[in-house]
Amino acid sequence: MNTYKIAAIPADGIGPEVIAAGLQALEALARRDGGFALDVTHFDWGSERYKQTGALMPEDGAQQLRDFDAIFFGAVGAPDVPDHITLWGLRLPICQGFDQYANVRPTKILPGITSPLANVKTGDLDWVIVRENSEGEYSGIGGRAHKGMPEEVATEVSIFTRVGVLRIMRYAFQLAQSRPRKLLTVVTKSNAQRYGMVMWDEIAAEVSKEFPDVTWDKVLVDAMTVRMVKDPQSLDTIVATNLHADILSDLAGALAGSLGVAPTGNIDPERRFPSMFEPIHGSAFDITGKGIANPVATFWTAAQMLDHLGETAAATRLMRAVEKVCAEGTLTPDVGGSATTQQVTDAVCDAIRGEN
Ligand code: ATP
Ligand code: MG
Repeated sequence: MNTYKIAAIPADGIGPEVIAAGLQALEALARRDGGFALDVTHFDWGSERYKQTGALMPEDGAQQLRDFDAIFFGAVGAPDVPDHITLWGLRLPICQGFDQYANVRPTKILPGITSPLANVKTGDLDWVIVRENSEGEYSGIGGRAHKGMPEEVATEVSIFTRVGVLRIMRYAFQLAQSRPRKLLTVVTKSNAQRYGMVMWDEIAAEVSKEFPDVTWDKVLVDAMTVRMVKDPQSLDTIVATNLHADILSDLAGALAGSLGVAPTGNIDPERRFPSMFEPIHGSAFDITGKGIANPVATFWTAAQMLDHLGETAAATRLMRAVEKVCAEGTLTPDVGGSATTQQVTDAVCDAIRGEN
């Protein structure tokens, strides 16, 4: 039997509530299957620690996580701590320290959840967005001159490396190949940006030769937003730069009905280091402590984590349980129901236990 070492970092706001729910579902799965076990270590890192000690995590934090099989992350951010401090103080050092260069966001409309798109129903929209997570527009390189003066100039440099683009493109083609439709859409802006984006296009064409069974096309990011809304069925796997995919995946999340159901994985495809799985939503202090946080994003995140660990049967079982519970209408208020976090969690655990 495989035992997986999981680092749980619930962090701020509703993070601890949804991570507790996710761990309950994982435990129910482990007991049901008997095929794997979890050895979970909790880390109390986050904004509270920052307020007490001046740091969200210890200086050797990433080092402490190195030997785990995966990181199960809640949400970080607090109303009284500036965003750039929480962002740079916990998530980014982990993503960068472990070279989690692929940010992977599955999106679909779960049964029982209504998309704001009138023309779309469950099953019509089933995407995975792959975001380049290590370079591009968020290189942090740039500067400002003549600050505050009429002649002020600011630069914001995008860095694209051949190594960086090749590896994300290969990952995206592989992922597309593993899905039934074997369909990949490469998003760029090479009509207006003549260097990095043109290299991105060229590398997509190069890598496509390694995957003759994958059908792929190239779309400009502006046209892509229209296509996501008007023709969602034409899309399956999507790959885009750090900035473009950041924006497109928020749109995707909204089209799928709620932030409360959207998961993500920050993945090191080479498996040199642990990958990190988290719901897309933030700490949501407006509902913290009310017991109504939607745990579905975290269940889906847990399923993504199980998939990554190779426990695909358990991952499928978990998603089937979630879909059953959503279809039956056991939903939290953000998706139109009146159930609590615990009621949804209990229903999912029951479905896991009851299922064959
Ligand atoms: P952060 O600053 O960390 O991004 P936030 O408070 O802005 O956190 P978001 O997660 O970005 O919160 O979400 C915006 C709003 O969406 C929240 O205020 C909350 O009302 C709602 N929301 C987000 N996640 C959930 C969830 N899991 N369940 C229910 N509602 C949610
Ligand atoms: Mg927010």
